[in-house]
Amino acid sequence: MDYQQLLDFDQEHIWHPYTSMTDPQPVYAVESASGVRLKLYDGRELIDGMSSWWAAIHGYNHPDLNSAAKEQLDRMSHVMFGGITHRPAVDLSELLVRLTPNPLEKVFLCDAGSVSVEVGIKMAMQYWFAQGRKDKQKLLTVRSGYHGDTFGAMSVCDPINGMHEMYTEVLPRHYFAEAPACDFHEKWDEKYIQDFKQKLEQNHQNIAAVILEPIVQGAGGMRFYSPEYLRRVRELCDHYGILLILDEIATGFGRTGRMFACEHAGISPDIMCVGKALTGGYMTLAATLTTRRIGDGISQNGGVFMHGPTFMGNPLACNVAATNISLLLQDPWQEKVQNIETQMLEELSLASEYQDVYDVRVLGTIGVIELKQPVDMKKAQKEFVDRGVWIRPFGRLIYIMPPYIIKREELSQLTTAMLEIAKNPPLQQS
Ligand SMILES: *Cc1c(COP(=O)(O)O)cnc(C)c1O
Repeated sequence: MDYQQLLDFDQEHIWHPYTSMTDPQPVYAVESASGVRLKLYDGRELIDGMSSWWAAIHGYNHPDLNSAAKEQLDRMSHVMFGGITHRPAVDLSELLVRLTPNPLEKVFLCDAGSVSVEVGIKMAMQYWFAQGRKDKQKLLTVRSGYHGDTFGAMSVCDPINGMHEMYTEVLPRHYFAEAPACDFHEKWDEKYIQDFKQKLEQNHQNIAAVILEPIVQGAGGMRFYSPEYLRRVRELCDHYGILLILDEIATGFGRTGRMFACEHAGISPDIMCVGKALTGGYMTLAATLTTRRIGDGISQNGGVFMHGPTFMGNPLACNVAATNISLLLQDPWQEKVQNIETQMLEELSLASEYQDVYDVRVLGTIGVIELKQPVDMKKAQKEFVDRGVWIRPFGRLIYIMPPYIIKREELSQLTTAMLEIAKNPPLQQS
């Protein structure tokens, strides 16, 4: 198959994320990737602004991660986790217990982010069930959230973005408070927590847990909210004896300037989900961590936690993940993230003057230009590729979260392309 045949077959037969079979989006065939560059089959090179959806924090084709995969491949790529353990799983879990906030010490290794959210939700339900609280089967979350595409995770995604109306008979109904409206740097006011507080007060008897993305609402709008909101949520959960699940799948491993975003608020959850950057973008793996109290609670009177995927604790993925985290720890990553943040603030803020731009915001290595109207994604995508960068806008958002290893000039190429598109954006025809 030549390049064109490959693209033709793809368009005819293969689903891509969130796509149509009759009106497929154009795709670009990547032949290889190295550092911050994606190489297309037609020879062009693109600077990557997406880190393959938050994941490739050290860039592509990293020698240490490659060795971790190759060495593990020669020992064993997989072995069942029922009744068996191995060094990669233990090494990784030791790192996760050490790095995450203190009370988290029980680790469940799973296949993908959405699964880790399912696991977190099940942990909360099973905990209350074991306490004799069969009435606690509801969750409370906020609007504009994103937690994954499996049914349990979908049920706590934003009801409109998540198209809940399509699944009314199968999706459980949970409680939704207004999305946090206090921006990251904004002065706190109690009014910002009123709606959440009220929903909790009215329904706490039935609520097992609150689930939130800490500080950054990712796929639901790339919004950064006040750490004070998170502190108040923790206090209210404690007051009503409700568990707090934090979904750090997008924010974990340094992305926001802290190892985990909940550190901005100085709080810790009862259950935490991690994924995405866990293997540095090499392969799929996620984990759900919880406390001794929840672990013991689920297990009392002979209880067991009812989950066990076939590829649980996959050694290949665990070995890459453990190496990935060690790499991060050896690295002055805070400094790198800080430099990226400063540079993006300087360079992107120009866009606030543009007539089609609604807002410009930066947190850690996340840089966002929000437009007043949705972009035409196909056209915008092509304009970015023509400028030698890989940036994938969605809706009204043009955003990047580059690998931490990106150099100053490379980052400038990304921000320059963002400014050019934001100045004269191809808008969706309404
Ligand atoms: C991506 C994401 C998920 C889902 O992870 P998958 O690996 O795609 O299943 C869940 N929560 C958040 C916050 C995410 O960004």
